[in-house]
This record gives sequence, structure tokens and C-alpha cells, in this order.
Amino acid sequence: MTGIYIHVPFCAKKCPYCAFFSEQYGRKTVDNYVKAVIRNLQLYQVNDTVDTIYFGGGTPSLLTAGQISDILEACSKYLHLYQPEITFEFNPTGKRNTYLHDIHSAGVNRLSIGTQSFSDSQLKLLGRTHSVNDGIRTVETAFQVGFNNISCDLMLALPEQSELILHETLETLVKLPITHVSAYLLQIEEGTPFSQNQDLLARCLDDDQSADRYLQTVHFLEDAGIHQYEVSSFAKKGFESRHNLKYWKCVDYLGIGAGAHSCYMGKRFYVPEDVSQFCDGEHQTEIILSENPYDREERIMLGLRTVEGVPAELVKSQKIPLFQKAGYLRIGENGNISLTAEGFAVSNAVISAMI
Ligand code: SF4
Repeated sequence: MTGIYIHVPFCAKKCPYCAFFSEQYGRKTVDNYVKAVIRNLQLYQVNDTVDTIYFGGGTPSLLTAGQISDILEACSKYLHLYQPEITFEFNPTGKRNTYLHDIHSAGVNRLSIGTQSFSDSQLKLLGRTHSVNDGIRTVETAFQVGFNNISCDLMLALPEQSELILHETLETLVKLPITHVSAYLLQIEEGTPFSQNQDLLARCLDDDQSADRYLQTVHFLEDAGIHQYEVSSFAKKGFESRHNLKYWKCVDYLGIGAGAHSCYMGKRFYVPEDVSQFCDGEHQTEIILSENPYDREERIMLGLRTVEGVPAELVKSQKIPLFQKAGYLRIGENGNISLTAEGFAVSNAVISAMI
């Protein structure tokens, strides 16, 4: 079954650490953008059944609830939907009750809320425009209007993020009615205001401290019944993201929108990061990255991001015993190789050494 990703590359304000492609919001541009999304949904003529739809960004909540409803109606009209998981990334600022109610009524059944931290000083340092209270109220309101599948984003290894600060954030998080957590280590991306802020760089955590915060998060969430299933993803049983699992399990997904990536019908491709071109073109432009996706190397790289891992015979690396002895790898009863939490903390190095 195929997944559909709809990219919404607009933000009200650029966060100083963010290197993702996004543009300043403009009402007329967004109107044209929504029309182009709907046009492409029709033109692709997806034959396979679709069981996940994901609105990502950028900031999808800059679209009106009516526009979300129009896109979802087009999905019903042009796609073969089967009990779709419909995820929507939502930033905890501004509109809440009515908006959340309306997108829930339109069919969105999973929210991914960009809470990032439950420390006001850390949110300020990140340049986020919401407070801890905004984050808490957004999750509670979402739950009250009927969302029973809510994910929160957390950023780890923030400058000056002590064990205590992170502990308080995690304690607040697990008291909320959530089912899923996505926890990412802060990356300082070249060209962002963060990368030029010497004062801030001096306060960043080193690799050992970052790994400690990561492992602290893994163990805390595990104790709270929120189990790790991927290097950055944690869920209560049965609430793993069906859409994101497609990326790691090498299942087709089609991305629509400027900057969207796809692995669809035997091709890996992306759409240029150009909103005008996307809006004005009849069909979105596809820049091919690979016509042989999901080869052995890619299946190892993606599969080892998951707790399920990959079959040992696929990896065939002489380094396996070494990493197993170091506590980074395990071999399950089913013959799969997977990384331990300690292995996930250094996953880039371990995975590249094995392929
Ligand atoms: S982090 Fe999210 S809200 Fe902030 S600029 Fe990047 S895409 Fe926009």
C-alpha cells in the first residue's frame, strides 16, 4: 500500500536552527499551491491502495481548515483509500480549538505536534514562538476535540540541556495524553543563524553529552511504556507511525509539493524547491535521484534504523562480532540484526562501518 506525503513549505517565521526549505506565508500563493496539490493528486492516477496521508512542512497549519478539507476530499476522489492514517504536523501557536476541531472533522486522525521542549528557556533559545503552556494546552485541546493519536516532537542535545532540564521536559511530556514521541538530536546546519552564533555554539553539548541525553530519553520513555521502534521514534503499543514506517521498510510513498521527496513506482525522486514552478506547472517536475531504489545498501541503511532490524544474511559484515561485543548490535531469535539503544546513539558510524 502506498503512502502520500503532502509538503506545505510555508512558515510564519524561520526558526534559527532550521535548514528545511520553506517560504514566507502569503495567502494568494498558498491558494495557488493548494490548487496545484489537488491537480497533482488527480494527475498521478495512483492505482495502488493508499493507507497513509501525511501533511508535513514547513507549517501545514498555515493552510485553512477549508483548504485541508479540500485536499482530503480530492484524496477521497482520486485515490483508493483504505482506512487511512492521516497525520498533520501542527505547531503549538495561535489557533487551537476550532481549527483542531475542523481538521479532525475533515478526516485528520493523527497529530504530530512540534512541542520540541517543555522548558521555556530552551524554547526561547531555539527561537520558537510558543511557550511550554502553549504546548501543553495544544495537546490537551487536541485530545478533547477527539484526537486519540497524538505525537510530540522533542529536540535533544540543546545548548545547556542538562540532565535535570531534560528530565523535567520528559516528566511533563509523559503526563500528557500522547501516544508517540519523535525525538531528534539538534543538528547545527551550515548557513543557519545558529551556525553563526558563536555564543550559542560555545554552549552546545559535546558528543558524549548528546549521547547521554539520547539514552536518558530512550530509558525514560521505555519506563513510561513508550517503546522505541526506530532511532528517533517511540510509541505506545499499536501507535507506531504507519506512514513513517514506509520510509524505513522500503514501501512506496509519493510526495506532492515543492521540495517533496518520493520513492514511487521504481524511482526515487524529488520536486525542485520552487513554489512558483510547482504552482504554475501542469504536473510537478520530478528530479530523478535513483532508478534502482531499495538496493542492498539502502535496505541495510534504512532497516537498521528500526528496532526490528534486517536479516543477518543481508548485512554480511565482518564487523558484526565486533559491534556485538561492544554492545551496539544484537542478533534476534528471528535471525535479524538490530542496533541496541547504545548502537542507535552512534548509528551513523556503526551503519556506515558495516556497509
Ligand atoms: S522548524 Fe518548522 S516551523 Fe521552524 S522554520 Fe523549520 S519548518 Fe518552519
